[in-house]
Amino acid sequence: MALPEPGGTNAELHTCAYCGSTVTVGRRHPVCTDESEDGDISLYIFCDTGCKDAWSREH
Ligand SMILES: [Zn+2]
Repeated sequence: MALPEPGGTNAELHTCAYCGSTVTVGRRHPVCTDESEDGDISLYIFCDTGCKDAWSREH
């Protein structure tokens, strides 16, 4: 698995799991993993720590 290049053209676009803003992976963004009851691990990406904190309070 290749590491994302900061500012590179291969940066993937994701959306903030809390507010829905577009997040470009490859820059520093807070992330959170969540394991469901059936063992699937989901990766959540947030545009900033405020969104992560708000999301964490609801989960
Ligand atoms: Zn956000």
